[in-house]
Amino acid sequence: MIGHIANFSAGPSTLPASVMEEARDQLVDYRGTGMSLIEMSHRGPYYTEVHTETTSLAREVFDTPDDFEVLFIQGGATLQFSMVPMNLLGDGQPAGYVISGSWAKKAFSDARIYGKAYKAWDGAAEGFRRMPRSEDLQLQPGSRYLHVTSNETIGGIQMFAWPDVGVPLVADMSSDFMSRSIPWNLFDLVYGGAQKNLGPPGVTIVFVQRSVLETTNRDLGAYLRYDVHADEDSLYNTPPVFSIWMVGKVLKWVVARGGVAAMEAAAHTKSEVLYGAIAASDDFYRSPVEPESRSLMNVVFHLPTEDLEAEFIAAATDAGLVGLKGHRSVGGCRASLYNAMPLDGVEALVRFMARFKADRG
Ligand SMILES: *Cc1c(COP(=O)(O)O)cnc(C)c1O
Repeated sequence: MIGHIANFSAGPSTLPASVMEEARDQLVDYRGTGMSLIEMSHRGPYYTEVHTETTSLAREVFDTPDDFEVLFIQGGATLQFSMVPMNLLGDGQPAGYVISGSWAKKAFSDARIYGKAYKAWDGAAEGFRRMPRSEDLQLQPGSRYLHVTSNETIGGIQMFAWPDVGVPLVADMSSDFMSRSIPWNLFDLVYGGAQKNLGPPGVTIVFVQRSVLETTNRDLGAYLRYDVHADEDSLYNTPPVFSIWMVGKVLKWVVARGGVAAMEAAAHTKSEVLYGAIAASDDFYRSPVEPESRSLMNVVFHLPTEDLEAEFIAAATDAGLVGLKGHRSVGGCRASLYNAMPLDGVEALVRFMARFKADRG
């Protein structure tokens, strides 16, 4: 936390204060060169070192097997909604999509433009209140992959059991990246934008299995080809140097704090504190999500009326608890508890919630 602010924004989101301070100190005069890193050639020695180090830190932190490539791509997770089907789907080849909420819907709608994407499950009728179980999924024969969204940032639901359906998984992990370990053997490709848990906006990390690259489409503009990014070590064109530099700093911060296992343990602790406060509030605060799918990253909750919600958000902001407004498409409140949110911030929120309920409940 910086000053007295606890930032619960869903993305871009809070970053470790020590990372921000270090970046501030290094921004203008990078290592005595009289220039900023963001003013130098991305082919020069200073940036090359940052690029190489960030790549190897990403491998280390995510425990990435050798047969996966790590790519840094611009365009957000949103560009991956197109790149995945463009690269992976052959003519007429089907791919299943788990429709678990707003982000999955966007991934699906782009995939349909490029290939035979179909819905393997749709949670819309239930109001996107849970993730599916493996037995809920309906796969078409010959499916190239099953696309899942591990954490629906807007609806506040998270996939805790990966589908086990005999088809390689492709996952959008934007909002729970680096808060849980990845069982790599299930995946052909994993992607996530940096601005939730990894750094500032501007870069998306893609992990893709090397064997997949042998069969990806070549009939695409260079920037759209995973094999080109892999062959060029994500330096086919000018990379987002500032974002990658910052991601490197966040990765070091995670290593120093015990890695992904420590982030995962902290995510459980923090979310239990908040869900516990919601459960103990006699329905003044309510979670719309089924207990088994409640996200550890984005805790969505409602108050008895929309007026009270607006009052709650305004009063919380005055108290230094910011970014609690739910997404405009679903309303309510949302507290995002990414890795850089300290337990102190969550405890301050819970104390505020108790005071607000005592006043207005
Ligand atoms: C934020 C988010 C996206 C979109 O990311 P952009 O970087 O804005 O393209 C996609 N999927 C999920 C799960 C997200 O949380």
